[in-house]
Amino acid sequence: MRAACLIRARHALQSVRGTRVDAHDLEPGSLWAEDEASAAAAPVGPPPTFEDVVHHVRHAFGFDALRPIQEAAVRATLAGRDVVVVMPTGGGKSLCFQAPALVRAGLTVVVSPLIALMEDQVAGLVENGVAAAQLTSSQTPEERREVERRIARGGLQLLYVAPERLAAEGFLAWLEQSGMSALAVDEAHCISHWGHDFRPEYRLVGEVRARFPHVPILALTATATPEVRADIVRNLGLADPLVLVGGFDRPNLTYRVLPRRDLVEQVMSVIARHAGEAGIVYCLRRSDVDELSADLRARGVSCAGYHAGMDGAERTRVQRAFLQEELDVVVATVAFGMGIDRSDVRFVVHASLPKGVEQYSQETGRAGRDGLPAECVLFYGGADFHGWKTLMELSARDARAEGQASAGSDLERQLERLGHMWSLATGAVCRHQVLAGYFGQELPVPAGGCRACDVCLGEIAHVPEGAVIAQKILSAVVKTGQRYGAAHVADVLRGADTARIRQTGHDLLSVYGLLRAQSLADVRSWIDQLVGLGHLRVADGEYPTLFLSKSGVEAMHARVPVTLYVPARPKSSGSKRGGSGASSAARSAALDEAGPGVDEALFGRLRELRRSLAKERGVPPYLIFNDRTLAEMAAKKPRTIEELLRVKGVGDKKAADLGEEFLRAIGE
Ligand code: ADP
Repeated sequence: MRAACLIRARHALQSVRGTRVDAHDLEPGSLWAEDEASAAAAPVGPPPTFEDVVHHVRHAFGFDALRPIQEAAVRATLAGRDVVVVMPTGGGKSLCFQAPALVRAGLTVVVSPLIALMEDQVAGLVENGVAAAQLTSSQTPEERREVERRIARGGLQLLYVAPERLAAEGFLAWLEQSGMSALAVDEAHCISHWGHDFRPEYRLVGEVRARFPHVPILALTATATPEVRADIVRNLGLADPLVLVGGFDRPNLTYRVLPRRDLVEQVMSVIARHAGEAGIVYCLRRSDVDELSADLRARGVSCAGYHAGMDGAERTRVQRAFLQEELDVVVATVAFGMGIDRSDVRFVVHASLPKGVEQYSQETGRAGRDGLPAECVLFYGGADFHGWKTLMELSARDARAEGQASAGSDLERQLERLGHMWSLATGAVCRHQVLAGYFGQELPVPAGGCRACDVCLGEIAHVPEGAVIAQKILSAVVKTGQRYGAAHVADVLRGADTARIRQTGHDLLSVYGLLRAQSLADVRSWIDQLVGLGHLRVADGEYPTLFLSKSGVEAMHARVPVTLYVPARPKSSGSKRGGSGASSAARSAALDEAGPGVDEALFGRLRELRRSLAKERGVPPYLIFNDRTLAEMAAKKPRTIEELLRVKGVGDKKAADLGEEFLRAIGE
């Protein structure tokens, strides 16, 4: 299928990955500026049906069926309706616009924020025999002209571009002539000021609607807040869109939250239970990345750092090595984000508290995209909370000084989000339930718990006398005048002999030494938990002093129930689901799904083959076949191309290109 086009598109993939699209993306002298474009042949024949889409999806991607939301999105766009799809990472958003593009006459234009993202998606499509290409600043002018010629000939189904390109002079007119028949806006939350990834360039996409009133627009995002969704609809000028929201729970992820103690040791214990597997460790600051990655390397972990302060070429090298499976562990700031589509990431660690549940969900979402078990571990401390709070207050002050009217309400929202994150970290409620609840979805937890978070796995112990301890802490805050921070209150409760206690005479208070028998770490954690529960509040301003909220007063008088827990003790074993750890859990899930009789040794050899084929073809290994597909091959041991085609994830082109090699490996 379109062999010449595929080779050229593959050639276009030799460009640099991971480069943020910028103003250079706009290339003068392109074909559309030269007005050479000839209109793509006007489509004739009956409009495609949903059944046509399913047929093409089976042949191109090897999937038996579309998922329910994919089906609804495809049916609506085929009918010419605008659609907003909100699904978590790994939910299958791409197929919502790729599938109809296979059958629809004309070009589907996909707006994407990052060159790396475009390149990966295009590479994956080309591997599946779909006529897709991108126009980016990292191509040579000749490569770009070639793409433009293909479009003019009507030889392309999907074109990926950066938002800036839509604003280039003459580009929209050229698209009009070229027969653009649908627009997909990937990572659509970038258009929203409220999103965590706001990109001013995305506003340019809004101009498309006025020019193409009848071209259906499909906006896709994993960000689920109503305000972001409303912004997407408004800014893209969507007309009565069908809004589809998927389930936000990721049952294959096991969440754990632990107070930060000895971070390096704690991170090492996570890495140890995922030996040989891929993972990302998120740090707050660039300096934390440098320090932690050096500490881990000193302990023999093969890892690399990644942050925005690093040289661009080095960043590209790290990202590429990670995607090519030549590097398994990356210690990074959140700059290591979009475009990290490696599907077999088995753990994501947060070395400190993210500033909101949205960010946490997005970052942990990079684990287990292949649907197999993965682990997400968050290490937090009270300092994280105060650090964020101070930062937010300072930037609101600057914004106010610059005359921004919304500075006050922005700050309020940010603090509210931070508060939710803090409650998630310090609370002892099923993490899956809290996360789904945050996104407005009720998640019934079965009697035995979700079996995939520290709370439900029984790793967190409730303190039997928690309510009494809470009373003691709250009254210590009151007795010390609600003028001190957590450190001093904990010292007073533990009967410490510090200069400040002697100075203030707090050793004479009735609360002095009331929690002498408890460890300092536990007392600090309980104070954190009381903040998380909203019974204690942290004052604004320079010093994070504690004071009681209304509910805190109630709790102090034992008029509301309070549950505290002993912070989880790090366990050396991994997910209980997998017995000996998440590694075997991941494998057994792949094997379970693939059916009985999976030959594990063969599975390993097929992974090796995938790696070497990926290297030869210059694409990330997960674009060849994912683990699920390989496991199914290792179970069914197909002997012919026909049998191979029955394995989920094997489409016509991959069977033709790679089938013989895989059949040979299986035969051996
Ligand atoms: P998202 O963009 O929402 O993060 P992707 O589009 O990357 O998700 O899809 C996630 C995974 O699900 C990919 O491995 C993809 O191949 C797989 N997938 C998507 N749709 C289907 C389907 N209908 N049947 C089987 N697998 C699918």
